[in-house]
Amino acid sequence: MKTWVKDNQGNCHELRHEDELLRCEQCEEIFRTSELHNGHSCPQCLNDHRFFPVEERDERIETIEVPEKGDWIYLPTSLYLSHGADDFCGGRALVIEVRRGVSAGRYTPFVICAERRGSQYNWLVLMEEQDELRERYGESEAHADPDLRPEFNRWD
Ligand SMILES: [Zn+2]
Repeated sequence: MKTWVKDNQGNCHELRHEDELLRCEQCEEIFRTSELHNGHSCPQCLNDHRFFPVEERDERIETIEVPEKGDWIYLPTSLYLSHGADDFCGGRALVIEVRRGVSAGRYTPFVICAERRGSQYNWLVLMEEQDELRERYGESEAHADPDLRPEFNRWD
């Protein structure tokens, strides 16, 4: 697991040790130093004024634990009425990639697991379900569980 921070606007940022977090004076968006180039303007509000270091204890900041490649997490079961061939049985799953995408207009961590490479999961949603899923699936591993019956695989 790796620590990310969620700012007061709901944007998530991965915290890298070599990076400092800086807050734009004007729009209050938070950036890593590696995202900013010296002397350039804020990527969000285009202000070219000042950035302030974000204190770890800044109360506007919420920290979240986000999986890393190689971590095990739990995925939920997905059943599809009209394309049962894609049915998936939840359980433990190995994280193979974590990327930052956008959900509802905010930077959000997404995870991709070896057991279901074609899907990326919004970690902010998934993390709320982890305890429940752990209880339900225990040690069993997530796997494809295709239902090929024609009545569950209509393409109309
Ligand atoms: Zn700004």
